[in-house]
This record gives sequence, C-alpha cells and structure tokens, in this order.
Amino acid sequence: MKDAIGRHLSYSIGKTPGAATLRDWRMAVSLAIRDRMADAWFASTRRTYEAGAKRVYYLSMEFLVGRLLEDGIVNLRLEERVSEALAELGQDYAEVIADEPDAALGNGGLGRLAACYLESMSTLGCPAYGYGIRYEHGLFRQQIVDGRQVERPETWLQQPHAWEFERPESRYEIGFGGSVRDGTVWTPGESVWAEAFDTPVAGWNGRWVNTLRLWSAKPTEPFDLDRFNRGEYAAAAESEALARTISRVLYPDDTTEQGKELRLKQEYFFSAASIRDILRRFESQFSDLRQLPEKVAIQLNDTHPAIAGPELVRLLCDEKGLDFDEALQIAQGTLNYTNHTLLPEALEHWPEGLFGRLLPRHLAIIDRIDHAHAKANPSRTSSVRDHGQVKMGELSFIMANRVNGVSALHTELMKSTVFAELHRLHPERIVNQTNGVTPRRWLLSCNRRLSTLIEERLGLGWVDDLEQLHDLEPHLDDPAFLDAYAAAKTANKADLADWMNRTQEGLTADPAMMFDVQIKRIHEYKRQHLNILETIALWQAMRDAPNAGWTPRLKLFAGKAAPGYVFAKEIIHLINAVAKVVNADKITNKMLQVAFLPNYNVSLAEKLIPAADLSEQISTAGKEASGTGNMKFALNGALTIGTLDGANVEIRDRVGAENFFLFGMTTDEVDQRRAIPDHAAKAVEADSRLARALAAVRDGRFSPEDPGLFRGIADNISGPDYFLVASDFSDYWRAQREVDGAFANAGDWTRRAALNTARSGWFSSDRAIRGYLDDIWGAETLL
Ligand SMILES: *Cc1c(COP(=O)(O)O)cnc(C)c1O
Repeated sequence: MKDAIGRHLSYSIGKTPGAATLRDWRMAVSLAIRDRMADAWFASTRRTYEAGAKRVYYLSMEFLVGRLLEDGIVNLRLEERVSEALAELGQDYAEVIADEPDAALGNGGLGRLAACYLESMSTLGCPAYGYGIRYEHGLFRQQIVDGRQVERPETWLQQPHAWEFERPESRYEIGFGGSVRDGTVWTPGESVWAEAFDTPVAGWNGRWVNTLRLWSAKPTEPFDLDRFNRGEYAAAAESEALARTISRVLYPDDTTEQGKELRLKQEYFFSAASIRDILRRFESQFSDLRQLPEKVAIQLNDTHPAIAGPELVRLLCDEKGLDFDEALQIAQGTLNYTNHTLLPEALEHWPEGLFGRLLPRHLAIIDRIDHAHAKANPSRTSSVRDHGQVKMGELSFIMANRVNGVSALHTELMKSTVFAELHRLHPERIVNQTNGVTPRRWLLSCNRRLSTLIEERLGLGWVDDLEQLHDLEPHLDDPAFLDAYAAAKTANKADLADWMNRTQEGLTADPAMMFDVQIKRIHEYKRQHLNILETIALWQAMRDAPNAGWTPRLKLFAGKAAPGYVFAKEIIHLINAVAKVVNADKITNKMLQVAFLPNYNVSLAEKLIPAADLSEQISTAGKEASGTGNMKFALNGALTIGTLDGANVEIRDRVGAENFFLFGMTTDEVDQRRAIPDHAAKAVEADSRLARALAAVRDGRFSPEDPGLFRGIADNISGPDYFLVASDFSDYWRAQREVDGAFANAGDWTRRAALNTARSGWFSSDRAIRGYLDDIWGAETLL
C-alpha cells in the first residue's frame, strides 16, 4: 500500500513527498484504492456477459454520493493497511479522508437513495449501471451570514476528480428542436454530445463492482476560428457555451416544479444518452429487440427521466423499424417507475408548447401512447396530454411495468389519491418498496465506536445481513454491553461538541445534554417551524421556573432551503435568531442551547447522526413519502419523536411503540382538520403556551432591531397554516415532555436506544434492493 501510494504520488501526481500537499496525498491514496477496484470491475462485466444476465439500469437525475475515498477503503477492507501506510508516510488518515470534497450531485433524500441503492446493488452482485448527469456545479454551498442563508456556487470539479474515467469514445449526439418530416423523420435544430464519465462503485468486500455513468454535455460544433479571428470572441464560443450549460448546474429545488426549458433539456439529454447506451450494449450481445424486457430492467427514479419511455419507443420505431404497438409493448415491459412525492406542487408537468418545440417527435409519440391507452381502457377519463400540459407522472405510470411507492403508507396513498384512476385500471401495477440505507456508510464507517462494539459481540456478518442486529437483543441484559453502548454515544457527542464549540459562535454544547437533532431540507411540510416554536415555548417555561428540574437539551438544526423558497429561508433566519437570544440567556443556557449548522450535506450527516439522542421526524402526516434520515438515526441509536408519516410508521412497528415517541394527527385527521374553518386560530386559542411563543415571534423578541421581521411566520402559523403546525403543537409539546422524562432515566434510555439499533436491520438498502429484484426487475444476482 505504501509503495502504491508513493508510486501514484510520483508518477500520477508528479510530486515528491516533500513537496506534496494534503490534496496530493489524498489523490495518490484514491488512485491506489481505485487500482484495487479495477480487476473486480472487469470481472463483474465479464461475468455478466458470460451469464447472459439481465442488467438493471437506474436512471436518476441525482446521485448524492458524498465522499468516496472512505467508502472505497471500507468496502475493500483496507482501512488498517491504508492508515498504517499513511502513518509511515507521515500523513494523518483522518485528515486525508476529510480533504475530499463531497460530490453533491443531488438535493436530498432522492439523490441519497440512488447512491445507497447503487452501493447495495454492488454488494449483492446485481449487474447494474447508474445513469445520471455529471453536473459541473452540484448543490450550492450554504453559508449563514447574519442569520440568513447565502448560496455560494459549489465547485467540486475545480479539482480533478480521482474516481472517474473519461470515456471520450462513448458519446452520443443528442438533438433538440427542429422539425419532423413525413411523420417520423426528426431533424433536430441543435444538438450536443453526451460524453460518458464512469465511476466504479464497489460493494462490500470488493467482490462486485458496478458503474455509475454520468453524462457531460460537449459542443458538436467546433470552436469557430473564423469568428474569433474577426474579433467576435463571445460568438466564437457560442455553441460551446450552449452545450456546457446543459450539464452546468443541478437545479436546487426538489419540491416545486418550475417548468424551465433548461431542466427539460437536462432530462432529455441524460435520458436519451442512457437509452442509446442501453440499446447499444444490448445489441452487442443479443440480436432480437423483442428480448429487451427479458434482459433489461430500467428504473426511473421519479419522473425526471420519464422521457426515456417515448425516447425508447421512438428509437425502436423510427430507427429500428419496429411497428408502434410492438415498440410500445417492449418499452412497457422494460421500464419501471418510482414515485417519490404526492405534493401537488412537485408533480412534473410541461406546457405542451414548450415540450413540442423542444421534442416535436416525442410529443406526437405521446399522443399515440395516450390514444393506445384510451382505446384499451375506454373508461379512462384523463390523459397524459391534458389542458395544455404534458403530465409526466401519468406518462411514467402508463409506460411502466411496475410503479412503486417508497413506504407502505405512501404506496397506499398513491393508490387512493394521485393514481386512483390508473390504479383502478391496472390494479397489479403499483407495488411498495420501502426505502433503505446502506449499513456500510450509515453505521460501519460513520459510527466506528458503535460498529466496533457490535463487531466485538456479533462479528461482522451484520454488515451485509443487517437483520443479524437482532442478535444484539440478548446482550441488552448484560450491563457491560449497555455501559459500552452508552459510552460510545457519549464519546461521539463529545467529539461533535468539541467541533461545534470551536466553529459555532456563542454555542457551549455539553455532551451531558440531550442532543435533539433535526437535519433535512428546510420545508414547511417537514415543519422545522414546529420544532423552533416548541424550542421557544420551552425556553419561556424554563425562564418561568428555572429550578423545575429540566432535562438539558441541545437543539440542533441543519438543512438547505431552495434559493427561491422565501418562507423556508425565513425559518432558517428565525432559528438562528432564536439561537442567538437563547444561547446568551444566563438563566437558561445551561439547560437549553440551539444551533443551526451550515451547509448540510452527506459528510455533515455522517458526523451528526452517530451523536444524536433524539431524531426529529415531525412532518405533517401524509406529506413525507418515506424519509431515509429517520432510518439512519434509528440504526445509530437515536430515539424518534415523530408523526405517523412515511417510513416512521414502519420504524415504530419494528422498534416497538414503547421505544418511539409518537404524536400528532394521522393523515385522515389532517384532512378533517383542514376542513374546519379557522382551525389554526382555534388551536392557538386553546393552548396558551403556543399563543405565548407565537407572540414572542410576532412582537420581535428575536429581532429587536426589526420587530416585524418574523411576523410573516407567526401570521402563517396562526392563519392559513396549511401544514397544521398549530394543530399539532400541543401534542408535540406533550410528547417532548415525555422525552424529557425518559432521558432523565439514563439506563433505560440506553436500553431503548440499543433496541432501536437491534431492530432497525430491516431498513438496510440491501433488503430494499432484494425487493426490487424480486418484485420489479425479475433479475438475478451473480454472487
Ligand atoms: C439521508 C439524507 C437526506 C434525507 O433526509 P430526510 O430526513 O429523509 O429528508 C437528505 N440529505 C442528506 C445529506 C442525507 O444524508
């Protein structure tokens, strides 16, 4: 290992050890690790060809992979060797790992899920490719300036990316616009190259390695030297600039759909390149396109790649010469669709004018798909093309062999709401696959203390068979085990407290406090404002009775708001304003501290989750499709305070109701409550604590220099309150006081935390991928 690192430092990076920077060392280590993936990578490809196996293609606009070096080292089981080699070379292992920038090619849960699934497919030996976009700028970097979110461009590609291989020979010309002649001959008005960049993804033990193939847009017209020589410098680079914009930035909003032309271009760009690559690979091995559903399963991660359906039909008809009905049948046998949201504002639809201008042939194909579907289902009352819009959810459903939701509750709601009619027509099509997270990243490597303790008791079999964690339960009767479990948590908290106290002005975190953590995108449905309102009420109650024996708490928040989401940004501002006042209050600040940690990303999640005591999963029932943060916390021994929403329901079922703090209205109660006039005003009137906390927000208690600053938030909660913060407040307060009491009994709390770990094995993404293999893809694993 030492030689390998040294060789790469000299001959790949071109530095001597004396001149090498931390980044040079990190690059050298990364290349040495990447070398060790190569043989298994080639072997995985060879075995897939030899077996004539079915391949899975996971199409996703986002892959939130985070750092890759530690993942690679851990999965190849090279940790000891690498840290020893680095020590001999005079370098610090942890520093080298921490030097890697996060690959932030996603917004949140959806992109992180895609990353966990790729890793699990490799662990299971499922022949698979991830297909996405190689964004030059991933999700923005968040700074907090004077309590407010400020967005800075993210620049992960300003330094070379150690993990990727550029494949200039794997490129496809992707057209846009233009016209269609004779019904089927599409002549695009402009085009770009989609060029492939491959990243190997190694599974546990490095036995199988799949590929993440990301597409980068390149100009098809060479740089215009004539124009340049005439002094028209900008015009000379026009075609280049146009191409580069397509893979330039990730759209930073995952909950509203804006119908922007560039977004549709991105979607078609990566879907079309992926479909062509899939067909090329298929045809290199098989000759009869009717075999496609037998040899290929394509998963659409949400509707963003929905255009892959019409594109596949187009290629089969217009280029391969199949007739339309046959092409449609082949496509429908090959494609599957995962729905991730029921929020109406997030369901993708495109104005047909824009759609037809950009993709004229596809619009005609969609009409034929609609027509064929209506003919086969005469009772149908809606269509894909509807009221001047092209609805991508309907399109995805109709083009799919299987449609899945991401938690049991969400799947049932899909059947009764957005897809009620299509479900009636196709009752077999909707299935559930509850999300999961990879235990390699979300326990083994992010929480060394806990995973070492588990290894001492159970060995390492749980790492790729997470239900083995059930075997911890007998150890709960051993006081030494519980002590060690508590010690691991306390040490994680102490590490985090040290770091936070150094980096967060005004904060004095103490590991003896309860670490109460809410980290996720900032959104009204996730209700960070419910949490901060309860924080304010708690602070007021503590000031009233400072000696009432309060359980000391640290309230931790982190998360990004979409740049255009004004209300979410106000919530961030309010949290920071409350933190400033509360942390400075000498009466309460030994009992209550508040912090908003900037720039939430995968690496920050890996730091925070192992140190959490309490996991806040408090969305309005019916709004969080699944959540995966909730699973990471439970696995790492945080108890959940949560609503009956998304996968919380299944977490509670598995860890046991007595180890989960439930509060709030159910989905049915939410609908009923919303129908009551002035529901929020009535809730405020009925709860004096809520009224007082809201008054403090409204009257400028946290913004003395600008007393009206947060009035909008208070008015929203006591007025329209669509997400029912006011109506759920009283029960949330009650549950939080129950948490206080439980935390005060340290021994019992540790037992319940350990039960959360022992009973969360089902939430492994390995289990989820097995479900997809069996119920959706019909594919085999080759290990
Ligand atoms: C797990 C994860 C998420 C998803 O969190 P939820 O609480 O399920 O919304 C979002 N962002 C990052 C960085 C994550 O690791």
